Amino acid sequence: MSAIAGFHYHFYQPPREDPWTGLFNHEWSAWPYHDWNERIAAECYRAMVAVALPDEDGTTSLFEPLTQSSFDLGPTLHHWMVTFAPDVEHALQREVRGADHGASRVVVAAPLVHAIVPLATPTDQERLIAWGIDDFRSRYGEEPVGMWLPETGIDVASLEVMARHGITYTVLMPTQAQSTREAGGAWRDVAPDTIDTSLAYFVALPSGARMTVVFGHYDLSHRIAFGDLVADGTALADTMAAVVDGGEGVVLVVADGETYGHHHRFGDIGVAWATRMLQEKHHLATALGEWLLSHEPTHEVRLHEVSAWSCAHGVERWRSACGCVTGETPGFDLAWRAPLRQALDWLRENAGSALDWELGHHVHSSDAALLDYGKVIAGEWSAHDFVGRHQSRDLTDDERSRVLEICEAHRNLMFSFTSCAWFFADPGEIETSIVLRYAALALELTRRTTGRDFETPFVQHLEGVRSATYDVAGEALWQRACEGFRTDEVQIAAGAAAEYATCGEFARRVRGTWSIECGANEVGQVRVNLTNVLTQRKFTFLTHITHGDDLSLHVDISDTTMWRRVDLERLGADVVARVAMSRLLARGSSDVEGALSVLASDLLRRDANRDDEVTLLALASTPRYVTPVGEAAIRRALFAIAARDAPDAERGSLVALARAVGVGDTLHLSEVPQGLN
Ligand SMILES: [Zn+2]
Repeated sequence: MSAIAGFHYHFYQPPREDPWTGLFNHEWSAWPYHDWNERIAAECYRAMVAVALPDEDGTTSLFEPLTQSSFDLGPTLHHWMVTFAPDVEHALQREVRGADHGASRVVVAAPLVHAIVPLATPTDQERLIAWGIDDFRSRYGEEPVGMWLPETGIDVASLEVMARHGITYTVLMPTQAQSTREAGGAWRDVAPDTIDTSLAYFVALPSGARMTVVFGHYDLSHRIAFGDLVADGTALADTMAAVVDGGEGVVLVVADGETYGHHHRFGDIGVAWATRMLQEKHHLATALGEWLLSHEPTHEVRLHEVSAWSCAHGVERWRSACGCVTGETPGFDLAWRAPLRQALDWLRENAGSALDWELGHHVHSSDAALLDYGKVIAGEWSAHDFVGRHQSRDLTDDERSRVLEICEAHRNLMFSFTSCAWFFADPGEIETSIVLRYAALALELTRRTTGRDFETPFVQHLEGVRSATYDVAGEALWQRACEGFRTDEVQIAAGAAAEYATCGEFARRVRGTWSIECGANEVGQVRVNLTNVLTQRKFTFLTHITHGDDLSLHVDISDTTMWRRVDLERLGADVVARVAMSRLLARGSSDVEGALSVLASDLLRRDANRDDEVTLLALASTPRYVTPVGEAAIRRALFAIAARDAPDAERGSLVALARAVGVGDTLHLSEVPQGLN
C-alpha cells in the first residue's frame, strides 16, 4: 500500500485554570457540565479514545481511530486530562504507546503553550519548542519526530528551531504554500486550489536542514469542519478514496479534533467508520507518520514568509486589526489587539530581564536553566534535582524557592502569550482575561523575587485595550479580569482551616498547586502549614474557626504578626461545597446530590439566607456533571429562595444559575409557580 488517505486531529482547548491555584473555575455556559473541558471531554475526547462500531455479524467492536491516524494534543489540555479526565489520559497513552511503529509515528508534538511561535522572541521560540518536546517525551517515552505549531503559525525561524530539536515534519494548510518544484526543477507559483497536496514536500532551510511538510486537503478539510461530510462515514471514505483515485499520494483531512463529537454530534462515529472503511474497503493506509517512514519527499516547497491557517494576513490576527475574527458582537472593533500584544511584549522584555538578572545570582546560566525548566514542568525532573544541577553555589531553602519562583514567573509570562487571547472579537471574555491573570501572577512573582514592580506601567500599556461588550478598558479591564481571582497564601490557608474544622480527617491535603498540613493545638486553634508545590515555598498560619448559625462559618487567621477575618464565601466554591456537604450530610461526604436535596427541602420549610445562596452556588458549580435529579433539586431550592420575596438585587448571583437550569425568568416573578409552594 503506497497511497494514504487519513485524518490529522488537532486537539486543543484554551487553558482555563486559575493560575494562583491550578484549579478550574465553574463555567455556567457549559451546563450541566462543570466547565467546557468537562463537556468537550464527554462529547469528544472520551468518545474518540474508543468508538463502538457495528460488525457484520450484528455485534459491535471497539475501534481506536487515534492510533490509525495522526494527531496532536496540546500539552495544556493533556495537563488538564491528567487530573480531571485521567481515564482518557491513561487510555490514550496506553493505545498510543502500543502503536505498531511507536507513539512518535502517531502523535506529533506541540509547543508547551499555544502561542504564535513567529511572534515570540528567539529565546521564547526555543523554549516553546523545547518545553513542548519535554512534555512529549515524558508522556510517551519517546522523542517526537513531528510537530504541530499553534494555528500552524510558522516562519523560517520557527522551522529552524524545530529542525535543531530533531523535528523532521509538520502539517500545514495549502494557503501557506507560495511555490513548488520538483527537486532541482523550475519554481511554479501555487494557490490553495492548484497546489498538488497529494505529495509530501520538503522545505530547504538556510541552515541546510530540511523540514518535511504535508498539506491538508483544502476542500475536504474545509467541508469536514464547516459542512456535514462527517455525518456519513461510508460516503466520507468513498469521497476520500475517489480523491486518491488509484494514485500513490496522500489525502489528509486536517481539522480541530473537537469537530468529531463536539462540533458535529456523533462525528466521532462517522470518522471512526470512515477510517475503518478506508482500510478495509479501499485498502488504503490511514496513519500519516507511518506512511512518511517510506516516503521521502521528492518535491520542494517555498512557504509564504509568515503564515497561519486561521489568518489570511500572515499572523496579523494575533497582533493587529487585520479583520479575521470569530464571535463578532454589535459595536465590536479590533483596535485592542495591537496594544494588548505591545503591553505583553513590554512586560516580557522588562520583567524578563529583571528576572534573568536575579536568577543569574543563583545559577551558572539563566538561559540554560530556563531551557531545562521544561523538564520540571513535564515532571521529568524534580524541582530539587533541577536546582541542584544548575545552582552556582550552595543555596538556602529561601534561595531555592526564589529560583523556582523566577522560573514560574517566566512560565506565566510565556502562558500570557496564549494565542486564544487575540482570536475572538472581544477582550472581555475568558480567553483574554486568563492571559491577563497569567500576567498578574508573573507580576506578583517578579515583585516577590526581584523587588521590582511593573504592574502600574503594564496596566498603563493596556489603556488601548477596550472591551465593547463589557464597556471597560485599560485598568478597569485589568481589574475585571483579575479581581475575585487573585488569591494568596492567607486565603488558601483559611480555606484549608475551614475544611479541616468541618471535614476533619477528610479534609484535602492537596488543593491544586498547594500541599496542606493541618493540626489543632491545645487552645483549639488550627495550625496550617502550606507548601506551594511549584516553588516549594512554605508558609505557616494560626487560625481560629467560628461556626455561626446554619451553615455560616468564618476563619480568623494570623501569620503570627496580625489577625484578620475571612468569610466562608471568600474561600472558593470548592471549599464552600466541602464545608456545606459535611454540615448538611456527614463529615467528608462528597455526595453533591444528597446535599442539594437536603438544602432544597430545608429551604422550603424556612427562610433562606445569604449563606444558603453561597452554598447553593458552590454545590451547583462543583460536580463535573449535574445529573437531572441534581438539577431538579437546584430548581426547587431556587424557587424556595424566590418565594422569600426578597429584592431582586439580593439574588443577583443566582440569576446565572437560574438561567442555566432554565428558570431564569421565574426567579424574577413575585409569585412562585403553582404547585411548588
Ligand atoms: Zn487576518
